[in-house]
Amino acid sequence: MGKKALFTGSFDPLTNGHLDIIERASKMFDKLVVGVIMNPQKKSLFTLEERENMIREVTAHLPNVEVSHFSGLLADYVNENGFDVIVRGLRGTTDFEYELTMAHMNARLFNDNVDTVFLMTDPEYAFLSSSMAKEVHSLGGSIKGLIPDIILKYMDEKKQV
Ligand code: ADP
Repeated sequence: MGKKALFTGSFDPLTNGHLDIIERASKMFDKLVVGVIMNPQKKSLFTLEERENMIREVTAHLPNVEVSHFSGLLADYVNENGFDVIVRGLRGTTDFEYELTMAHMNARLFNDNVDTVFLMTDPEYAFLSSSMAKEVHSLGGSIKGLIPDIILKYMDEKKQV
């Protein structure tokens, strides 16, 4: 059986920083599931379904990538679905501190030996977050090149309603 990896996030919306991690991780593992975190308490621009569909659209060229969603404890989702690896992106030292504690906590919660693997961001996207992109876009600034073009189109449409 091949290595099955999981990359999670809110992806509200998916940025080119996320997509870069997905493309690189899809080459490293036999199967990569992009798991969208379902959190009804968190106010989002796109619905869960919209986010999942957009990710499917922009990862259509990657045959071993699958898109799904989950709620609750990450470790439960991992234990129930038999993932071997958790993939995380690292932008800088702030991410590192948080990610390190999360990885240690998760390691205690995983039933099997599941490793968290960190991929360094493409420096071009080191400053990029979904929230930053949404804020700049809402104020009329250009985020072209930071968000996949198709998703940018959906963001423009949301702005008009
Ligand atoms: P959440 O909003 O739930 O924290 P994010 O969408 O911010 O989720 O992050 C999901 C994953 O993507 C994390 O591992 C994060 O480090 C990574 N990530 C976010 N932005 C970038 C980026 N610009 N480059 C590389 N990785 C990133």
